[in-house]
Amino acid sequence: MHYGVLRSGMRRWGYPRPVLRAVIFDVDFTLSWPGPGLGPEGYRQLGALHGLELDPDRYEVARLAAVADLQAHPELLHSEELWIMFTKDIVRGMGGDAAGSRACAVDMVRRWEAHENFHLYDDAISIFAALRAHRLSIGLISNGHRDLEQFAVHHGLDIDCAVGSKAHGRAKPHASIFERALEALEVTAGEAVMVGDSYRDDIEGARAIGMRAILLDREELYPSEDDRITDLFQLPAALGLVADGDEDGGRAGQPNIGL
Ligand SMILES: [Mg+2]
Repeated sequence: MHYGVLRSGMRRWGYPRPVLRAVIFDVDFTLSWPGPGLGPEGYRQLGALHGLELDPDRYEVARLAAVADLQAHPELLHSEELWIMFTKDIVRGMGGDAAGSRACAVDMVRRWEAHENFHLYDDAISIFAALRAHRLSIGLISNGHRDLEQFAVHHGLDIDCAVGSKAHGRAKPHASIFERALEALEVTAGEAVMVGDSYRDDIEGARAIGMRAILLDREELYPSEDDRITDLFQLPAALGLVADGDEDGGRAGQPNIGL
């Protein structure tokens, strides 16, 4: 979407165009994916340590049921108890009995705090370099229990700010977690783009405060969404950072906000 932007930085009809200055990423399933220790086999092994016989084949159904049951805190306060209850739901759904399920869930939640249990997608590293080449600031916003700054250090992510719900106290899609990141990056909502895989948390949350939000739809679940990409390699083009034989004259290297 390059609406008649001229080299002067003005739209054809004379209004200044919003200039892209920062890109903010969600983390889980956007930049990184949880390794096997956090999946069906991890549950089976952890269950065995707690005397529970958990069936890996029941993991996906149990996880989807837990997602359906998950009730966010009404004021979107970050809550460890919520994560434990969600995980306990999965343990129970995989065959765990009531007695040992909570202790098993607590241990699994601890595993989600360990940075080495996550892996970066191949496109995550290259997109950071591409954005830096355009002198864009980069931020992270994530719901979860981990120390987000340490996560970035562990995985070698070159970022300017990290706002985790545990440290911030509120979770996406609460407006304040997005506003905190914008403040740290010293940009306005109109100068930043959010990229994430959760329609509710990342996309609706960011759009509610006036940010552009691009859905990363790796599983291709939202074909009707206008502003979406299916991997991060597509992000530079979505941001107008590359010449694409395009309608505005192939102005490679001149980012625009795409609104
Ligand atoms: Mg995510």
